[in-house]
Amino acid sequence: MSNLKQVLSTIPFLSRDCGKRESMALQNVVRELLPDSRVAACLRHRLGGSAVAVSTTNRGNIRLGGVMVCDAGHICPVCHARKMARERKIVSSIVHDHYQAGGMLVDAALTVPHRDGEPLSCVLNRLDTVWKKLCTKRIWKELAQHLGVIGCVRRLEVTLGAHGWHPHFHVSFLCDAAHAADVKGLSWRTALDDAFAIVSGSWRQAGAEAGVAVCEEAQSAVAIIGHVDAQKAVDYNTKNMGYCRKADSLTPMDLLRVVAQVEDAAVVRTAKRLFAEYAACIKRRHALSFTGSAKAVHKAAVEKADAGCAEVAEEKLGIVAPWAWSAIVKAGLRETLAVVKSRRELVAVVLRAALATGHGRIPFDWMRLCFETKTVISIKAPVPTTQ
Ligand SMILES: [Zn+2]
Repeated sequence: MSNLKQVLSTIPFLSRDCGKRESMALQNVVRELLPDSRVAACLRHRLGGSAVAVSTTNRGNIRLGGVMVCDAGHICPVCHARKMARERKIVSSIVHDHYQAGGMLVDAALTVPHRDGEPLSCVLNRLDTVWKKLCTKRIWKELAQHLGVIGCVRRLEVTLGAHGWHPHFHVSFLCDAAHAADVKGLSWRTALDDAFAIVSGSWRQAGAEAGVAVCEEAQSAVAIIGHVDAQKAVDYNTKNMGYCRKADSLTPMDLLRVVAQVEDAAVVRTAKRLFAEYAACIKRRHALSFTGSAKAVHKAAVEKADAGCAEVAEEKLGIVAPWAWSAIVKAGLRETLAVVKSRRELVAVVLRAALATGHGRIPFDWMRLCFETKTVISIKAPVPTTQ
């Protein structure tokens, strides 16, 4: 079995949980692999000399104030989850408004041929070259006329399957049905055939001009969203845009899961190498891009998404001193602290860190608990642990 096949054979056994605690544990894997990346400091290094404020948020999560957040959405499991949620909201908002305005959507997944063992950088370059050709005036103009394209949202996704790296674009063509000259089908089925012929034909032509033999059936998939209900259109589009986990391929975050969960040393070594290759190739690339009408409403969609994602600190549980935070990180309790539900659990975590560093109780200057009344008290006595 090839190295790649061995890694893929772990899929049925992987726990693909993506809660905060799991994401932070996967962050530790990235830190081990890429010690010089920003991810190594994410939710670990404090900002300047500040203490760490632990608060609950209006969404029931824990916010750690005063620690660095890396924002490296491609490779940081914690920031990836946050950015994906935001991206989904942005795209959903654009799709929803387009649909409400009577528009039609043609969703496509476009890729290029690739094989096991090919470097990701080569396949990505090939994909970029064909896309660039698709965007040349002649091909794009024809595509836009035939489909009635007025805007476009494109999302880059990189997965790993039996034929090696599989970078692909999920594209939502925002179309004006009245101007879709060549989508004449009388039923959704025949309209879909028309849309498929137009999109895959343009993609094949772009490939031919780039010197890449694109196989229409294998390298393009097309769907028309024919729901009457805008929300259903959004849901369908979300699936089509690739935000779902697949049974036969691994995402980059899955490669980290393999490293964290699988015991076979050879498999772990391959997963590490593949993740490092992905991290090097994906630097500075935008996952999402917008053109035409999608670009015009992008700013408003971002503002709406940010308002929807806004998470405000609701109740401050306590303040952890810098040296106590260091002890928590050192004891591997960062992940546990990030999901505490109460002051009692917060105290329990700090106590565990204190015990791990040779103290018999929580030292006087390690933390303060905060209460709603804004009264701040010090913890002086040892507190029984619940763990
Ligand atoms: Zn991060």
